Amino acid sequence: MTIALYPGTFDPVTNGHLDTAMRASRLFDTVVMAVFDLPNKNLLFSTAEREELLREATRDTPRIRVMSYSMLTVQFAREIGANVIVRGLRAASDFENEFQMAQINQTIDPGIEVVVFMASRQYTFLSSSTVREIAYLGGDVSGLVPAHIVTALEQKFTRRT
Ligand code: ADP
Repeated sequence: MTIALYPGTFDPVTNGHLDTAMRASRLFDTVVMAVFDLPNKNLLFSTAEREELLREATRDTPRIRVMSYSMLTVQFAREIGANVIVRGLRAASDFENEFQMAQINQTIDPGIEVVVFMASRQYTFLSSSTVREIAYLGGDVSGLVPAHIVTALEQKFTRRT
């Protein structure tokens, strides 16, 4: 049985992330989407919120599981018995970072293979930061994220203003 770990910040999860996870779940028995607890980024949603939003988004997909973690990604992969790490690539601008990370992970643990999915055409422009920015400015993000995330973003920004 192959378990694939799909790690990310997921702040919040978008239809692009979900598309990648669905495609990965056709290749691997189980895909664990794991929310990284401590990214070096300014976060809108807490780890618990990001995890809960992700759980709701993947409720009807039994091959996709949701967890969170706060250690090295390869270490976490080992801990859950995953020998594949899934990542997504949207444009050349993603490449440098993904390439570097894959090589570092490979150096730390050569037994774990990094599999990169090319973003589907309709999601190449889509990022969590774009979604946050549009929502912050009161724009419509309903085609970009699941409905419950539209609501969560509205609540977040209403509370802040
Ligand atoms: P991270 O902080 O780990 O980059 P993200 O949540 O931004 O976390 O992204 C997780 C992974 O998903 C990354 O490999 C990223 O390139 C990929 N990704 C992000 N948006 C999309 C998208 N629209 N389509 C495909 N892959 C994506």
